Amino acid sequence: MRVTVFGTGYVGLVQGTMLAEVGHEVVCVDVDADKIARLEQGIIPIFEPGLEGLVKENHAAGRLSFTTDAARAVAHGDIQFIAVGTPPDEDGSADLQYVLKVAETIAEQMEAHRIIVDKSTVPVGTADRVRARVDEVLKARGREELTFDVVSNPEFLKEGSAVADCQKPDRIIIGTEDEDSVEMMRELYAPFSRQHEKIIVMDVRSAELTKYAANCMLATKISFMNEIANLAERLGADIEAVRQGIGSDPRIGYHFIYPGVGYGGSCFPKDVQALIRTADEIDFDAKVLKAVEARNAKQKTTLFAKIRDHFGGELAGRTFALWGLAFKPNTDDMREAPSRVLMEALWQAGARVQAYDPEAMEETQRLYGHRDELSLFGTKEAALKGADALVIVTEWQSFRAPNFELINSQLAQPVLFDGRNIYDPARMARYGFTYYSVGRLPPE
Ligand code: NAD
Repeated sequence: MRVTVFGTGYVGLVQGTMLAEVGHEVVCVDVDADKIARLEQGIIPIFEPGLEGLVKENHAAGRLSFTTDAARAVAHGDIQFIAVGTPPDEDGSADLQYVLKVAETIAEQMEAHRIIVDKSTVPVGTADRVRARVDEVLKARGREELTFDVVSNPEFLKEGSAVADCQKPDRIIIGTEDEDSVEMMRELYAPFSRQHEKIIVMDVRSAELTKYAANCMLATKISFMNEIANLAERLGADIEAVRQGIGSDPRIGYHFIYPGVGYGGSCFPKDVQALIRTADEIDFDAKVLKAVEARNAKQKTTLFAKIRDHFGGELAGRTFALWGLAFKPNTDDMREAPSRVLMEALWQAGARVQAYDPEAMEETQRLYGHRDELSLFGTKEAALKGADALVIVTEWQSFRAPNFELINSQLAQPVLFDGRNIYDPARMARYGFTYYSVGRLPPE
């Protein structure tokens, strides 16, 4: 099938590549000419495990091409995916300007029936707005006879495992009432739904809400566990024991119940906020979602509070080694990352940061390269030298079993703040560290 994908970010590039991999002919279009030029040369703008080889193979095989030429892109695909960003507006609601711009572009260029698919995460009612915008442009062109459908097909991939998630999705949501569109979408996704039926067809508004409900449920699990971790810390209980204890109940399960330093990334924070704004617009007080967001904002400050308290509020002139800058492992994405809140608080207090991350160094350089209070190092060990403490912010695999003797010898003081509970408190005590973690008892 012939497919066009607008937007070559985490979603558009991965989805476009996976559709090409199963044999579809895919054109990816972006307004960022630089990105497109680099993709043409096989330079992948994001870090996503397994993606580079697949992009190169499918590009070489002629099934995947890149362009900035909207006319060519709209002429190509019977199915036109919108996979552009929907960042938060000033009031937290989803900014739909990029989505509606693509709708406009498609309407300006189309010469035959098109299925327009919202893959971006968009509030309930957006498909209606896309439809209205396309109608408006077609009318202005005097081409009202051209037909189209707008389908909601939200994306559930996770950064860090995006390729695998697209290869083996848990479910494929298709929101439309048009039988022909359903048939086309079924054919498109058939290669991904072979083992068992994964396609769930529903009305557009339910499909749009499904995406927000999924992300808000996951964010709720995290904020809930962070709340219990705060209680555990104050009540003399151990959140790790509690986590194991509740996870064993299959109704709860072990997934996504790890306490930490708060959720970040480009999705959970903005999607929780956007659903709160959607609720506000219809005068519904989304109490649970507001609490989830408030707990998360507070949780992102807890690591700093522990550091400040340990040093008696005297942080000016101190240096902290930070391991982990990306908002989670296996990505270079730093949008809304807890590391940013921590670094900015440390700088505000007059401290310096020596940081290392396996993938997010370039992004950190782009964001904070101008700050003298930040030094970036090529290895995790090099970032330790002379620091007053080590702070673990992201739970990368390569941080899980480090050489603790080396850490101890490199730090000016053996103090370790673990924002992800990746070490054992008793073992840390044996290595001579003063060790802080999240919601756990200090060693005897
Ligand atoms: P991104 O910011 O990484 O990429 C968006 C791309 O769209 C950019 O390359 C930008 O240049 C391009 N773009 C903007 N306007 C354009 C236009 N008019 N024509 C063509 N290209 C245009 O965004 P992302 O992370 O891929 O997210 C895209 C959407 O998918 C968002 O709504 C997001 O909420 C949703 N989503 C993201 C994830 C994730 O993990 N990143 C997961 C599921 C859903």
